[in-house]
Amino acid sequence: MESCDSTACQSAREIFTELEEIYDDQNLYFRTITSVLEAASALEVPHRLKLMLTQPKNEIMVHCPVEMDDGSWRLFKGYRVQHNNVLGPYKGGIRYHPEVKLDEVKTLALLMTMKCALARLPFGGAKGALRINPQEVSKDELMRVTRRLTAALGDNIGPDYDIPAPDVGTNAQVMAWMADTYINFAESSSKVSARGVVTGKPLAFGGSAGREKATGQGLVYVLDALLPNMGIELDTVSCSLIGYGNVGSWTARLLQKRGTTLKAVMDHSGAIFNPDGIDADALALHVSTTGGVHNFAAAKAISNDAFYATPVDLFIPAALEQMVDLEHAKRIQCKVLVEGANAPTTPHAERYLLEQGIEVLPAILCNAGGVTVSYFEWKQNRQSETWDEALVDERLKATMTRSAERVLKMSKRLNCNMRIASYASAIEHIDKVYELRGVFP
Ligand code: NAD
Repeated sequence: MESCDSTACQSAREIFTELEEIYDDQNLYFRTITSVLEAASALEVPHRLKLMLTQPKNEIMVHCPVEMDDGSWRLFKGYRVQHNNVLGPYKGGIRYHPEVKLDEVKTLALLMTMKCALARLPFGGAKGALRINPQEVSKDELMRVTRRLTAALGDNIGPDYDIPAPDVGTNAQVMAWMADTYINFAESSSKVSARGVVTGKPLAFGGSAGREKATGQGLVYVLDALLPNMGIELDTVSCSLIGYGNVGSWTARLLQKRGTTLKAVMDHSGAIFNPDGIDADALALHVSTTGGVHNFAAAKAISNDAFYATPVDLFIPAALEQMVDLEHAKRIQCKVLVEGANAPTTPHAERYLLEQGIEVLPAILCNAGGVTVSYFEWKQNRQSETWDEALVDERLKATMTRSAERVLKMSKRLNCNMRIASYASAIEHIDKVYELRGVFP
């Protein structure tokens, strides 16, 4: 149990008391908003902004009855949390996971607000989820539940209002079903623009070149921008990864092209190690056929403890939230922890790592490549354009590099760590827009 008696936690508790809410410090939402409020306090923004950021604007809950293949019926719970839209339409992924909870979705929506603001995208933050194990249902069942969820969300999503995308447990096919359902309900005059209701669609149906690899690609561009300042060269380093799904496997494959050696990987099926390097492409093929890294022939199985203790230059968590806690942090031997997943590091783990001189690069900077190329997809859909991969990569690199420079500059200005600096840069932008727009009425 990681309890918190710091000044930052104390001021977060005071804000929740003012909002007549009680949160305990084990809660992911409390942990995340505490850092956001710490950054807001460092900037001395108006108190009203702290209040507005502490609660999402809308929390939508739906229940979707779906007939299963065997004739039985199940009721699936769905969420959409719309955190803030002062910068533009709400934007954020839809997660399919059997244990997803409202506070997890709220946290991810808050992080989307911060992520879009840091990258200066014209989007606010949202996140959605459905309590389902996508591996345990048939393709037809998955399609029916997706269509039912889309219908249940109704006008709460739309290309000018709230634009979902893939996340854990969803993919381009799920986005295609969502877009198709939404288009079927759309007025005939808006059917063309209606496909912009979701991003991360298949290429043949309004998707963007480079979207599938975008999050991993963006992470590599951030490393390109920041590692030289730390005296680290990408082509000579080693890394380990938690998670070998979209973010993990693309990060590994793109880093391999740059000469990085992948020493160890852990996912839900187990952990593997090869001191001479694991072939990232061969592992991606193995995972796509078997479902996990377990039994990969060209590496040996190791325990989870041994995985964390493997000495590497870059340690990259790219699976689920809060997987790196204080006990793990004490085992980790790396120079930089690079957050590929959202909120993978607990506050105590982060503090410990920083005390050891290990740099922690925050998720809202490192994994913003996905939402950035989603923005490019939305833009292409609106303009009926198709960009090639080279153009997408060029623009992605420019966005990620500018964000990394912003964070670096802010960390020097406030003399703070990279996480607080990344939130501060996002909040400063949001504050400026609230000042210009005013707060209605
Ligand atoms: P994914 O579903 O493709 O992969 C998830 C990975 O996590 C899998 O390899 C799975 O084995 C692993 N995992 C699950 N439970 C685990 C456990 N208990 N121990 C170890 N590994 C476990 O998901 P993804 O799209 O790669 O997303 C990963 C993270 O990145 C999430 O936090 C997501 O919100 C974030 N993210 C994703 C994108 C994107 O474009 N896909 C963009 C930004 C952020």
